[in-house]
Amino acid sequence: MLVIMRNDATEEDVRGVVAVIEQMGYQARPMPGRQRTTVGVVGNDGRVNADRIAALNGVYECLHVTPPYKQASREWKQEPTIVRLPGGLTIGGDEVVVMAGPCSVENEKQIIASAHAVRDAGATILRGGAYKPRSSPYSFQGLGLPGLKLLVKAREETGLLVVTEAMDPEGCDLVAEHADIIQIGARNMQNYSLLKRAGKSKKPVLLKRGLSATIQEFLLSAEYLLAEGNTDVILCERGIRSFDSQTRNLFDLSAIPVVKKLSHLPIIADPSHGTGLREFVPPMARAAVAAGADGLIVEVHPTPERAMSDGAQTLNPEQFEKMMRELRAIAEVIGRRVAEPAGARN
Ligand code: PEP
Ligand code: MN
Repeated sequence: MLVIMRNDATEEDVRGVVAVIEQMGYQARPMPGRQRTTVGVVGNDGRVNADRIAALNGVYECLHVTPPYKQASREWKQEPTIVRLPGGLTIGGDEVVVMAGPCSVENEKQIIASAHAVRDAGATILRGGAYKPRSSPYSFQGLGLPGLKLLVKAREETGLLVVTEAMDPEGCDLVAEHADIIQIGARNMQNYSLLKRAGKSKKPVLLKRGLSATIQEFLLSAEYLLAEGNTDVILCERGIRSFDSQTRNLFDLSAIPVVKKLSHLPIIADPSHGTGLREFVPPMARAAVAAGADGLIVEVHPTPERAMSDGAQTLNPEQFEKMMRELRAIAEVIGRRVAEPAGARN
């Protein structure tokens, strides 16, 4: 860390900063300049807590030269993390993994029909919320435990793996019992008690980027999971809040290569929530694969016009099938392939 002193800081101020740095167990290296003095902090093997130094007389600002996240960083681990799922499916390797299904699990007929439709088109993981974080308390909140049981049934019928959202620490254990991947939604990216619980779970976690989270905050939330011992973390770019109402969110395509540069963790894209409108889902899905996403999570419903949540951004099975064909072509161009469902894999 570098401590930048104000240009009117006195020598006594600098001595005060040096003393606190030394009290903290580090070495201080004052570097006088023409305008101001900078004090380098050396001898730290992790990130220094800047709060104590920032409050001292004469300090202008503290600049970190190492990122605040550690285990999530590329510096910590050079090679990409590959998350291994039951049945041999992997996320973060050569294959592009597609998770698809309705926004919410609504009833047995709907989830089973969705599972068959997405599997027939080539998805390998079924998505569907049993616990729904809705903006309004009067909107459909999800089926809860019966919804989880329906997802298990859909897995038994189709062989698809299941990803579904946990909204709180108690629900996290229940989701871990039933699903193959625990989803942590955008609204909960900074729910630290949920992150800690999911970090203790033995199941992989799909962590979605918060509505207005910076990439650094996103990686710090991943750090919570890693710090608890869960290394099977999959990140998901799902769009961030912006000023333009033409789309529901601003799908941050550049987050994919940026996260890949900063972190070893796999990252997938959610063009459904990212755009909010079904006509924009396939182009952004194609772009995400071209940009290096390790997978996609896409909302698909047998009859999107009747969906109980997020119908406007949901593809019907025909649209999804067409999109999958396009994705295979794009994956091939960049030396990857779209993972195929169990029976079809070779
Ligand atoms: C969802 O996947 O249905 C969902 C609620 O997503 P997000 O948390 O990204 O809004
Ligand atoms: Mn949704």
